[in-house]
Amino acid sequence: MKVLMTIMKYIGWCIKGIRRKIRRMSPTQKKLAIVAMIALLAGCFMGNGIGKASEKKRSEKKVQEAVAKVQKKAEEKLDSVEKELYALQDQLHDHSVELPWNLVLVNGLHPMEEGYVPELTEIQPGYSVDTRIANATRKMLSDAEKEGLHVEICSAYRSVERQEQVFGDSMKERVKSGMSYWKAYEETTLNVAIPGTSEHALGLALDLISNQYTELDEKQEETKEAQWLAENCYKYGFILRYPPEKTNITGIIYEPWHYRYVGEEHAAKIKQLGVTLEEYLQEHYQAEEGGQ
Ligand SMILES: [Zn+2]
Repeated sequence: MKVLMTIMKYIGWCIKGIRRKIRRMSPTQKKLAIVAMIALLAGCFMGNGIGKASEKKRSEKKVQEAVAKVQKKAEEKLDSVEKELYALQDQLHDHSVELPWNLVLVNGLHPMEEGYVPELTEIQPGYSVDTRIANATRKMLSDAEKEGLHVEICSAYRSVERQEQVFGDSMKERVKSGMSYWKAYEETTLNVAIPGTSEHALGLALDLISNQYTELDEKQEETKEAQWLAENCYKYGFILRYPPEKTNITGIIYEPWHYRYVGEEHAAKIKQLGVTLEEYLQEHYQAEEGGQ
């Protein structure tokens, strides 16, 4: 209370003092004092206003800088993604353009060109192949015959539509036997190529079996016919396309009956290297031929 009283006294004294001073002022001095007061008050208000405005400007600038930073980062990311995409497109382009017809890769990751139908030649009733491999196929089969072997063709060119039917039938059979749809699909994809990813649609693949054992399972390899083919097919430009222990690369189980034409030169190299077509194209062919 004492402090408050002292302050009140002091304020009163100040006001009295100011009044006394004002009373003593001439009219001109009074006018000047009023003007000075107005100027002082205006200065206070303006100063406050300017301070607020500059603060607003500063925060606006900060926001703008943050937005610019984010934008720059996003643009950089977009640039790098775009670059990667172009590189991938180039690779794909190189691959499809530069591979000769006999080395075209068709598998689960590389579907064939949509709508592609090769020019076909029938080599046995009901069995056709790409015209360019007809002679080599006939020669291989007749040479096997000369050795006293009985090779039968059980599949050659299959259209994509036919492949769809084969795939669907395989799925149905598995579902009928009690498998779930997902399991049936999984098993089917290991045994039958997904339509559009089968070499049979290229007209460059043949399923060849012994007439002594006509099942399409691993025991086929024990027949004399399968053994002769595995040993000699390269001379006619063919490779055993899905060898054992390579399922993780080809995506297809061991098929001792599926032969693919790649041409004599490549077939010999692939056999010698003991690799799949995928490995050959990725590691050997590109390195040797520079993708020509
Ligand atoms: Zn096949």
